[in-house]
Amino acid sequence: MRHLMLAVLVCLVVTSAAAQPPAPATLTAIRAGRLLDPEAGRILTNQIILVEGTRIRDVGPNVAIPAGAQVIDLSRMTVMPGLVDSHNHLALTYKPEPESNVYYYTYVQESTALRAIQAASNGIQMLAAGFTVVRDLGNNALYADSALRQAIEQGWLPGPTLINSGIIIGGMGGQFFPTPEMVKDHQIVYPEYLDADTPDEIVKAVRQNILFGAKVIKICVDCKPYGYTADEIRLFIREAAKAGMKVAGHVQTPAGAKNAIDAGIWSIEHSGALNDDLHKQMAAKGIWRAGTETPTGLAGHPVSPQAYQRTVANLKNAYENKVPTVFSTDADYFVAGKTRGELCMEFLRPWKDAGIPNADILRAITTNGYKVADIDKVRGPIKAGLFADIIAVSGNPLDDVEALRDVQFVMKDGTVFKRDGVVTPAAFFHAGPVNGWRIR
Ligand SMILES: [Zn+2]
Repeated sequence: MRHLMLAVLVCLVVTSAAAQPPAPATLTAIRAGRLLDPEAGRILTNQIILVEGTRIRDVGPNVAIPAGAQVIDLSRMTVMPGLVDSHNHLALTYKPEPESNVYYYTYVQESTALRAIQAASNGIQMLAAGFTVVRDLGNNALYADSALRQAIEQGWLPGPTLINSGIIIGGMGGQFFPTPEMVKDHQIVYPEYLDADTPDEIVKAVRQNILFGAKVIKICVDCKPYGYTADEIRLFIREAAKAGMKVAGHVQTPAGAKNAIDAGIWSIEHSGALNDDLHKQMAAKGIWRAGTETPTGLAGHPVSPQAYQRTVANLKNAYENKVPTVFSTDADYFVAGKTRGELCMEFLRPWKDAGIPNADILRAITTNGYKVADIDKVRGPIKAGLFADIIAVSGNPLDDVEALRDVQFVMKDGTVFKRDGVVTPAAFFHAGPVNGWRIR
């Protein structure tokens, strides 16, 4: 006992000696000509948002601006909360050259270190387009996603808030179809996928991802004929819940979707297998739908007119059935001439083609995104006490959602990242982990 107390004491002394005095919180007042509240689907005019340090202190038409506060004039713009892509893969960029758009080869050719650096760049590109939150759902080599999340949270570089999955867990083989030699001799499935074929392996795989920095558990429900049963999915959910985490399921068959719905999964990723009946069941249970609707016309990634029509009709059906639905792209590839963020903006098209009102598209890309990321109590809405993730666009996205393509201003955690359409990230770069190195 005495040894223990001594150890605790030494720890306390070391901790306090190492802690740096906190810098005085900066005060910033944003003058918002129009302030969009996506939850209510309305615009308020001439509002002031007062930001203290990393958080919003006050918001309203008559907020007093303290002496010495920095004033940012966005009186000609629409100010709104940051955007969410609820399904992206920041550490994967497959390309026509050299890997013929096959990510199986990407992972053979590119190290985790190289992919982590790509992820850092993709994260900055997403933030520049106004995405302040990204759910990053796997195919990130050996935890490049965790490394990026930690680096952003420690304060090494700018990027969106990441809700990352670590390695996708699936039945033997994951989404790959490798030869026996590649699997047995070279373990080529790992680290893109974690095999979990028995209850013991399921528990262990979930724990591995938790240990190595995942914030959501991503599973392959039915990537192989031996997909997971509802009971097996329940085991994932129970084990993830011990760490306060949700389970996101990649689903590609109606039978897999049914198992996932019966188990009460948090979110279903992709919409190809969903139909009117399954949508009704999802709506009844409040299961999130991250449909990853791919637009037609992306260079190098052809979608046939028939496939696109099915995608749009499916999204429309989900909307009519009131399924809780989020904006999600599945972006994991390269389109020449577009940043990762600009690529994601192309995914507005299926929402418009499905005839979904702008107010609901805006909810899907903001409010619903915070909820599926399970962060809405601390981050997202422009409310006092929440982290200050704020963007501004020239037009009014309630009138024309395409206004989101022209993000002029981005503030992340209270620090300005983009202003007058130009990325100015200097304040985000530090020679040390300003938020502490213990963030895991
Ligand atoms: Zn995906």
